Formats: sequence, C-alpha cells, structure tokens
Amino acid sequence: MKQLEPVILFDANMFIVEGDRPILVDCGTGFKVDKNIAAILDILDGRKLQAIVLTHRHFDHVGGAAAISQATGATLYAGEEDAVPLRAGDSKSTLGTDFGGSIPPMDVKGLKDGDVLDTGSHTLEVIATPGHTIGSISLYERATKTIICGDTLFVNGVGRYDVPTSSREDLVESLRRLHALQAEHMYPGHGPAFHGKVSEQTSIGLMMLGERP
Ligand SMILES: [Zn+2]
Repeated sequence: MKQLEPVILFDANMFIVEGDRPILVDCGTGFKVDKNIAAILDILDGRKLQAIVLTHRHFDHVGGAAAISQATGATLYAGEEDAVPLRAGDSKSTLGTDFGGSIPPMDVKGLKDGDVLDTGSHTLEVIATPGHTIGSISLYERATKTIICGDTLFVNGVGRYDVPTSSREDLVESLRRLHALQAEHMYPGHGPAFHGKVSEQTSIGLMMLGERP
C-alpha cells in the first residue's frame, strides 16, 4: 500500500492499494488536486485506476474526487448512505461549506456491507462502520489482517460524532465490530498508521466513549 504525501494540512490520508487493478482510497480536499493527480499518475505508472473508494462523505476526503475520477477514468464508490449526498452535490452535510469549498454532483456507486473489491494483489471486504457518518465504511483485508478505517478510528482516538448524520451509538457498535476482527494493521483517515494489536486501539476508542471493549 502506498500513502500519498499530504498536499495541504486538512487533507485526509489517501492510499493506493496496489495490484494490476489499483484502488485509491479517499481524495483529500481537492484544493491542490493537480498535485494529487500528478502523484497518483506517477504511482500508477501506466496502470488504470480501477476504482476510487470514499470512506465517507466529508469534504476533506471527497473534495478532490470529481477531478481525480475525471483524470483517471476511475469509478467512484462510497457507502450507499453517503453516496446519496455526493450524487446530490450536498455541500452542507458533507461539510464542504465548513471547509470553504463545495461539492459538485458526482456519479458515485453505492457499496454495502460484505461487498468485495479485488485489486489483483489485495482483496478488500467492505465493512459498514456507521457512526462518524451514517454511510461510513471500512475496508478489511482478511489475509493480512489490515483495516482501512476512515474517520471511524484513529490512533488513540475516534472520529467526531457531533456532525450531521453521526451517531454515538452507531460508533460504539462499529468500534465493537472492528475490535472483533483482531486486525494487526490499521490505516486511519488522519494521522499515522498503526501496526500491532488494533484491538488495543478499539479498546481505547470504546473507553473514550465510556464503553467497555
Ligand atoms: Zn470525516
């Protein structure tokens, strides 16, 4: 997995999952999208980007999606309930307005729990992890016990649950679900990756929410 260098401070982490049919996870704000596109094309080195998976609707993850999709020809995907506001170009519930940007209506296909994406080298299972937003998803590779978890879980923290469509109760359930996976590698939407017992991180997250793991 290759992580792109952040171009601006608020950009979410962007990952390329390698293979013959590579997949990009998240797109940043798009405020300096030309730099992102150049970095992506460099990593692709002539391969076609199969898909762009958006972990959730927020502007710091999706602002660059339309431009990156156009430049690479890749199909956009998001959890179905977060695909809806992206199709509608809803700049409010995606926090576009708060970031000083806007969301154009995008052609986004919906993903649901249990869907599988295959890059040729990596098999990623979609896990619905609502809480931070109603349509938040994580991607799990069973073979390597790797989780890409968007803003559901960070190293020593959890995503906000005071934004439109978020739910503390859903976040607790989603953290329990990630906890049960016993993952060993974690790539969150912001901040550093974590290698070790990811259940330690889900435990910290649950305790921050006043819950027992
Ligand atoms: Zn977010």
